[in-house]
Amino acid sequence: MASVKESTTIGEYQAFVAEVYGLPNSRYFSASEMITNVERFIMRGLKGIRKEENERTTLNLLIAFSWFMSLMNQFHIDIEDEAWKRFPCLCSYCGDCPCSCAKHKAPVSRKVAVDESKHPKTMQDLQRMFEAIYPSGSRNIEHAGIHLAEEVGELSESMLVYRGSHSDKDFEYVKHESADLLSCFLGVFNSMGVSMAQAMAKMFSENCHVCKKAPCECNFAEVVKYKS
Ligand SMILES: [Zn+2]
Ligand SMILES: [Zn+2]
Repeated sequence: MASVKESTTIGEYQAFVAEVYGLPNSRYFSASEMITNVERFIMRGLKGIRKEENERTTLNLLIAFSWFMSLMNQFHIDIEDEAWKRFPCLCSYCGDCPCSCAKHKAPVSRKVAVDESKHPKTMQDLQRMFEAIYPSGSRNIEHAGIHLAEEVGELSESMLVYRGSHSDKDFEYVKHESADLLSCFLGVFNSMGVSMAQAMAKMFSENCHVCKKAPCECNFAEVVKYKS
C-alpha cells in the first residue's frame, strides 16, 4: 500500500504520485492535459477562497498539487531540487529573508550566498521556509490566491514555448516556473494556516484518494468529470 506521511518530503510525495497515478497518467494524459487539470483544480480552489471555505480550497488545491506532481514526473523534474535552487531560504529576486521586493520599485536580481545547512528536509519544513521568506501576515489570502493563478499561467506559457522549441534553454524556464508555482501553493496554505503535509497525509492515507487502489483504477470519465 502506498501512503503519504506527515513527515513526507516533496521527493517522497512525487514518488508516491508516480506509484499511484503514473500508469493511468501515461495512458490517458499528455503534459498539456495535465496542466489543464492543474489549472482546473486551482480555479476550484480559488472559488473556495472567494466563498471563504477553507476545506474546499484545501481539497481542490491538493488535487491540483497532485496533478502538478504528475506533470513534474512526466518532465522528470526533481521539484525539491528546483525549489531549493530558486529559493535557498531567500527570495529569488531580492535575495532577502524576509523578502524586501515591495521596498524596491522593481525586483532586483542579486547573487546570493547559499547556506546548505538551511535546506529544508520535509515538506513541513519547506512550508515553514516559505513562511519565513514570504510572511503570510504581509498579504491577505485573496492576494496569495491571485499570485497562485498568475504562476500557473506562467507555467502554462513556459510549456507552450517549450513545446514550440524543445530547447534546453526553454526547459530551464519550465523548471523555474514550476518552482515558483510550488512556492505559491505553499503560500496559500500558509495564508490559511493549514499544514499541507498534514492535509496530504489525511487525504492520501491509502493509495488513490478516490478508488483507494495503487495504481489508481478510476476510469477516464470519472477522472475528467470529478467534482470536489
Ligand atoms: Zn524579494
Ligand atoms: Zn483512483
